[in-house]
Order: sequence, then structure tokens, then C-alpha cells
Amino acid sequence: MQLEIALDGTAVVLLGEADRARQALLRYRRAAASVAHFDSPAAFRAAVGLPARPGLVAVVRSSSAGSAAGAAHDDEWAPVLDHYRSAGVPIVREPAAGRRGRVTLVGGGPGSHGLLTLDAVEALRDADVVLFDRLPPWRELGRLTTAELVDVGKLPGHHKVPQEEINRLLVEHARDGADGRGLNVVRLKGGDPFVFGRGAEEVEACAAAGVPVRVVSGISSSIAVPAAAGIPVTHREVSHSFTVISGHAPLTSDEHTHLAGLAAAGGTLVVLMGIANLPHLAAGLRRAGLPVRTPLAVVERGHQAGQRTTVTDLGHAEADTGACGNPAVIVIGEVVRAAGPLRGDADGLGLRELADALIA
Ligand code: SAH
Repeated sequence: MQLEIALDGTAVVLLGEADRARQALLRYRRAAASVAHFDSPAAFRAAVGLPARPGLVAVVRSSSAGSAAGAAHDDEWAPVLDHYRSAGVPIVREPAAGRRGRVTLVGGGPGSHGLLTLDAVEALRDADVVLFDRLPPWRELGRLTTAELVDVGKLPGHHKVPQEEINRLLVEHARDGADGRGLNVVRLKGGDPFVFGRGAEEVEACAAAGVPVRVVSGISSSIAVPAAAGIPVTHREVSHSFTVISGHAPLTSDEHTHLAGLAAAGGTLVVLMGIANLPHLAAGLRRAGLPVRTPLAVVERGHQAGQRTTVTDLGHAEADTGACGNPAVIVIGEVVRAAGPLRGDADGLGLRELADALIA
């Protein structure tokens, strides 16, 4: 059931074993339904005062659908369902809550809930607790899950929850949870968990503690944010490769050699977390031999309200991007010129025209 549905007082009979039905029960209560929950056919038969004709019957799907155990589970409710079916009551099937005692790292994409994967939506729906950052579509979480929401977001310069603490929280929730039985934990991260997301560290921490962990890939801002501004990171006969770097800290102890390598590679350069360091990076790339006329775009808040694209070139990067803020993806390379019609930005200008005008 979608969380947006309002059932205002509708009588709902929910059938299914308590632990598997725990998320469905929360969803129906959230929708303001009047829920009678039965965790076994025997409990149902013993019930008194049930509405003869409820508005809806919901049966929690067997988590082992298709197996012998799943078929037996479906069979045990069959007489109850037949009874309601013949009375003309609508019957819906609800997914079982996620297994307790495990962690799922979920890539939340760049911030628009339309860019969540189906696996991400399912994982959120079945979670008991969600630890989230500010980057994924966190404002929409109340519509996607009944889970407890824990904000561990780190805004640049405001390190809220240290990484070791996040690792500890993941393990602790999965093992004990509020009721001591372990929880189904989702760790929602911006973009893809394995692109500058410290996802691997979280996987390692869970594995070291013996907590089952899996990863749901997400749409990375390194590709989707340039795309939101109409910029393809590769383009036939323009750029055959793209390199994604973090602009957060000096690249390596031998930064010049690294930048010279990037400049010589000739492909598109995509910089995440690079706004604060952009003047330093632009100067370094110029010293490393990248032409000052190389187009450069800063795409702020890609796929989000207030998306803005600033186009300049490597020679004017410092002067032209002073007003840019986080989150932003920087794209350096000829693909900026190859951009199709600008999408998402307020002014609606074609990016190609904008780029030509600014770089000319
Ligand atoms: N794992 C993430 C990246 C995490 S690093 C991913 O795959 O996308 C955080 C950086 O991602 C930000 O500093 C910014 O450079 C970039 N970013 C993420 N979402 C963004 C958005 N909606 N618009 C612009 N930049 C974004």
C-alpha cells in the first residue's frame, strides 16, 4: 500500500503473522484505517464483533512465495479469503516486512524521488529504521516508509555524526534494535553508495560484526547531475572517457603529477565536492597544461528545486563561479559545449547557446 493513501476510518482486516505484518500494520494505521489484525486463522476464527463487511481485507504475502512453505501459508488463509471474496470485499496482498537483523545500503540518487530505483523503494518500505544523509530525497521519506528516521547527515563544515559512529549505529540497530530483537536497517545514501560515499567502510563494519549486509546501487550524481543540465559525460567524437574525482582535498601528495595525468588523458573531468576547492583545482589544471579555453560548467542542486547551471571556461573559473554553492557537480571538458537543450534550469535557455555565448 502506498503511504499517501488516506483510508479515514475504513475497517480493514489484516491477516498475517505478526512479525511479517508489522510494516503493513503501520502503513494502514498511518492511513488512518481502523485495523483488526489477526496473526493466525485460529485467532481470526476466535474473534468476536468483527465487521461483517469490512472495507478491505489485506493479506501479507508469504516471504517465501513460490516455495512449499509459501504455498502452505497462502493455503491456510484461503478459507478466510474465500469467505470475504464471496461477500464482495476487495482483497489486497501486502509485502512482508523485511527480515530483522540486517543492513541494506541504499543509493538514493541525486535528490529527486523519481530517480530512486524500485529496489530502493522496496527496501525503504520494508525498513524499521532509516539512517539518512541530507543528500538523497530525504524530505520525501515520510511518504516512502513508516520506519524511524535518523538524520546522520553531514553538511560540509558541520560534521554531525562521525563515520565510526554511523558504522556503530548500523550494527547496533541491526543487532538489538529498540525491542532487543534486531531491526531491518536501511542506510540511505546520496547517489550511489560506492561513489565517494564511504559505502565500502559501512559494508566492512557490518561484515566484521557478523551483520548481513547488501547494497542497492543508486544513480550517481557524477552522471545524472551533468545530464540534468543536458551535458553528456561522454559524446561521440568529443570525449571517449570520463574521470570522476573528489575536489574535497588535495588529490595526492604529488598533486601536480596527478593533475598532469588527468589533463593528458583528454577526457571529461567530473568533480564532486569541489566547490570550495575550485580556484585551487582550476589553477592546478592550468599549470598541468589544460588549455584555458576548456569549457567548465558548475551544476548546482541537480534534479532538485533551484537547479542552476553556470558555464564558463578554465581561465575564468574563479571569477565566474564565486556565487556557486553546495551541492554541485563541476564538469570540465568539451562535452559542456556538446550539451543538448538545457533541462531543469529556470531560464530554459539552450545550454549550447549559453556555452557558446559565454565561452566565445
Ligand atoms: N555517492 C554520491 C556522491 C557523494 S559525495 C553520488 O554517487 O552521487 C557528495 C557530492 O556529490 C556533493 O558534494 C556534490 O558534488 C555531489 N552531488 C550529490 N547530489 C548532488 C545534486 N543533487 N546536485 C549537485 N551535486 C550533487
